[in-house]
Amino acid sequence: MYLYNSATHKKELFQTHTPGRVEMYTCGPTVYHFAHIGNLRSYIMEDVLEKFLRYEGYEVNRVMNITDVGHLASDADTGEDKMLKGAKRENKSVMDIAKFYTDAFFDDCAALNIKTPEVVQPATGLIDEFIRVVSGLLDKGYAYEAGGNVYFDTSKLDHYYVFNDHDEEDLAVGVREGVEEDANKRGKNDFVLWFTKSKFEDQALKWDSPWGVGYPGWHIECSCISMKFNGEYLDLHCGGVDNAFPHHTNEIAQSEAYLGHPWCRQWFHVHHLNTNSGKMSKSKGEFLTVSLLKDWGYDPLAYRFFCLQSHYRKGLVFSRENLDNAAGAYKKLIRRIAALNPDQGAADPAVVRQYRERFLELVGNDLNTSMGITCLYDVLKAPADDASKLAVLDDFDRVLSLSLLEQAAAERQKLAVVQPAPSGIGLGSRVEGEYLVRHKGEPDPEISALVLQRAHAKQAKNFAEADRIRDELKARGIEITDRPGESVWERI
Ligand code: AMP
Ligand code: ZN
Repeated sequence: MYLYNSATHKKELFQTHTPGRVEMYTCGPTVYHFAHIGNLRSYIMEDVLEKFLRYEGYEVNRVMNITDVGHLASDADTGEDKMLKGAKRENKSVMDIAKFYTDAFFDDCAALNIKTPEVVQPATGLIDEFIRVVSGLLDKGYAYEAGGNVYFDTSKLDHYYVFNDHDEEDLAVGVREGVEEDANKRGKNDFVLWFTKSKFEDQALKWDSPWGVGYPGWHIECSCISMKFNGEYLDLHCGGVDNAFPHHTNEIAQSEAYLGHPWCRQWFHVHHLNTNSGKMSKSKGEFLTVSLLKDWGYDPLAYRFFCLQSHYRKGLVFSRENLDNAAGAYKKLIRRIAALNPDQGAADPAVVRQYRERFLELVGNDLNTSMGITCLYDVLKAPADDASKLAVLDDFDRVLSLSLLEQAAAERQKLAVVQPAPSGIGLGSRVEGEYLVRHKGEPDPEISALVLQRAHAKQAKNFAEADRIRDELKARGIEITDRPGESVWERI
């Protein structure tokens, strides 16, 4: 595929260090609060990227951290620790907060069909590794101790890489909150690798280290977790655009200094979900969650559909009206798929291949998911049989993960179910032993009720009555097909 690389500012042919295998890293959530739907926009787009690479035939090893320590209110190492802030807010321990919000994050991911990465590593589970890498950086002369903390010395680098093609507005978000100068830093870009008790006396989680009892900086966690589980050569690093600076910049600095060679080939940054008042952010305290969307009556997958309709390198404006439009379009799409006949035999492999190639080409152009969605409608309009259309939609859904066929099946079921008949043979939904009436094409409750009456008559061995109803329906242009436990009617 062709993918925009924010390190080179170009759309490039995606390549990997080991042919056929992608080492992929994703910055995970800071678990001091619920993920908001802005965070989840990033995870949805990263999920589609991973699934598209698999669809292309790559094997993908995806690694994600859980930030449960070290992320301060400002990404530039100042302000209060975010986890501590969360724990105080809820009067709980930091570890309780971390567990609760990690579970909540994965519940949200499940509701949005976001796959769990192969490796999920909480930062607090890998402290020894961080200490080892920080020691290595000190040994190599890339770090120094000052005022009890260990800092990375950016002056030792030939080139301190900064992604400079993002909006200043985007980049400033992380460093804006509560900026204060740290007198221990030798250079303004230097950053903390290890904090000791000299800085935050009330830090809840602390570990012994060669530099005193303390805790790791945020940036070192991602470098170490990736180097441990992805190896020395990373193919693809993902995150929201606010992570580009200073977080990703500092990850590059410390990883390459430690390894002594180039580290990550390809950088993928998802732009922000914004509201009228700007970027949706956890620290502002007012944000939208998946549970809130559910409370408002939206299917979380309608939000996924909303995200896929726009390109990941453009800001996306959230409003109820925009989401309503997407939810309406998603519902209509499902209805159109539900109108396809699922019992029409085998798909034509040539049709499936033809559409698959088109999808690969369209979505493979810098993860153009909105063209992927357009492709769904093209399939529905295609002069192909229903079985082939359904097979193509199912194939695309390996990437889009909109549960197209499952939702369509549920829709068919819903349309076909008629009210329980007065005689009491329960219908409603298919429960063992109950009889179902389904139809093809436009629904008609009156016809469904007659079909059901006929079924009751047959059950009561009143075949004359059953035949009478059949004839009456036939005269009205309705044909009935009986299957075990159900009858399907259609207009002929
Ligand atoms: P956090 O939990 O704050 O560490 O953020 C988790 C992920 O969400 C990171 O990749 C952020 O860059 C990303 N992110 C934060 N805010 C937004 C937003 N409004 N829109 C899209 N992604 C975001
Ligand atoms: Zn990270």
